[in-house]
Amino acid sequence: MKHIFSKVLAVVIVAGLVACATSQGTQQETADVVIIGAGGAGLAAAMSAQQNGAKVIVLEKMERAGGNTVISGAAFNTADPARQALVSMNEANRRDIQTLTTKTPHNDFERELQQTVIEQFAAFRGPGLFDSPEWHALQTYNGGDYVAKPELVRTFTKNTLDTLEWLKSNGMGWQRDQDVIFTVLGALWPRSHRPQMPLGQGYITTSLGYAEAHKDDITIHYNTRATQLVVQNGRVTGVRATNVNTNKKSTYTATKGVIIATGGFGANIKLRQSYNTLAMDKGGWPNLDSAKTTNHPGATGDGLALAEKVGANLIGLEWLQLLPMGDPRTGSLSGNIEIGVEDRFFVNKNGDRFVNEGGRRDDMTKALFAQPDAWLWVICDKQSYPTPQHKNNFNESIEDLIAAGRAFEGNTLEELAEKIGVPAENLRRATEQFNAGVDAGSDSLGRTLWRIKIEQPPFYAGARIPTVHHTMGGIEINSNTQVLNKSGQVIPGLYAAGEVTGGIHGSNRLGGNALADAHTFGRIAGANAAAGQ
Ligand code: ADP
Repeated sequence: MKHIFSKVLAVVIVAGLVACATSQGTQQETADVVIIGAGGAGLAAAMSAQQNGAKVIVLEKMERAGGNTVISGAAFNTADPARQALVSMNEANRRDIQTLTTKTPHNDFERELQQTVIEQFAAFRGPGLFDSPEWHALQTYNGGDYVAKPELVRTFTKNTLDTLEWLKSNGMGWQRDQDVIFTVLGALWPRSHRPQMPLGQGYITTSLGYAEAHKDDITIHYNTRATQLVVQNGRVTGVRATNVNTNKKSTYTATKGVIIATGGFGANIKLRQSYNTLAMDKGGWPNLDSAKTTNHPGATGDGLALAEKVGANLIGLEWLQLLPMGDPRTGSLSGNIEIGVEDRFFVNKNGDRFVNEGGRRDDMTKALFAQPDAWLWVICDKQSYPTPQHKNNFNESIEDLIAAGRAFEGNTLEELAEKIGVPAENLRRATEQFNAGVDAGSDSLGRTLWRIKIEQPPFYAGARIPTVHHTMGGIEINSNTQVLNKSGQVIPGLYAAGEVTGGIHGSNRLGGNALADAHTFGRIAGANAAAGQ
């Protein structure tokens, strides 16, 4: 193949991937593209690199693939006029467009987006719900306080629909058209797409199936932790790694490019707390040392250190996302009353509503920290969580949740209030306020996402707490996913995609934007690395 090592003792050639052992006992392998991390972004990059003619090696430190992607809520945001034609649009939605397109723009990028959306909306004749890549971009940019890089926001929302169709063409199943669109927590607009399989399993099953079907081109090494990037003459040409079980060292040479797709650092308590303190003067979180997380244990930020050692610029690391949706026992997303944002509200332990439940994730979680015991109850009813047909992300019906003691049921609001220990008159008042908001399309908390009243018994409640979910900052890339150094120049041979990167979401990521980001930029990274750009 392309590289002959000195002191080679044995060489095995498997369909273009070269493996050999040196006299020092170090395993060596070569491929066109080496990818670090077998989560959503890394596996999307693997499929895309292979489709662009590359032989690929993927290194994964855990014993299985999937990372945070496979345990995520799975929602994928994209403007998708054909499917959104089946979603109705109301006055509150129109007001949202009016509000964001008429506010004083922060810069030229926002001004251009506003102008385009105004023109698109004026020309919109339906059917269904208005959306466009520019409206998605405007909400993303505004929802992250203008900290994101405009070129990345633009590239992101322009390519999400193609990425969704590409995933479909690679075998990924999505819900039927009339069920596919919903609004995931903090998405701000009904453009979240629901996969067929629970959690993020659809993404990972699809890409692992693809890798298996193309195993001559894609090799995945598990239990293999990348420890260092190899640089030759200013170009990244490979990765050193250690087998976490045997401690055996290997070097993986990439003739065209290395892609870092190692995910975030939500599970690294020390790192997240040290970055959190940087945001204190910008309204950072309380001490997160003992905060629970939705993340898998491998989300420790390894890729940041790998990239920084070769001069990469890291941006926005102080922006940590917490959700108000953690399981009180574990912090995970499990056991949740997972339904569209429009169809439920929250009360605190006093039975009072306290926040716009359709708002930004950071606003909701900050409001939750201020409530008694930082504890909320999600409230819904038979119509909003219909049984047995509706399942949460863990494939659980409301009956499953009740049987497991994760949700409570009452034939009246008073019965429900007694079961969850909140004052009945307050829960009734909160429900009446919510239902009045459905009629008015607005309320005093500033909520804009409404659909149906909560009035059909039985009524349900499930408990939630704040939990660390996502890290918005990371490696700075350009829109080709090439990694930039501290002077803004490309580091040759090095690409990054997914949660390890920064600059796409700004200070607050919209719900449903993460998997769309990981797969969109993973796909771009794979194609560009394969081209050796
Ligand atoms: P993304 O959504 O950005 O793809 P994920 O969390 O889904 O992020 O996937 C990242 C993957 O990278 C995880 O499977 C994680 O175990 C893996 N990973 C993290 N650090 C390393 C490392 N040093 N070497 C190899 N794999 C790593």
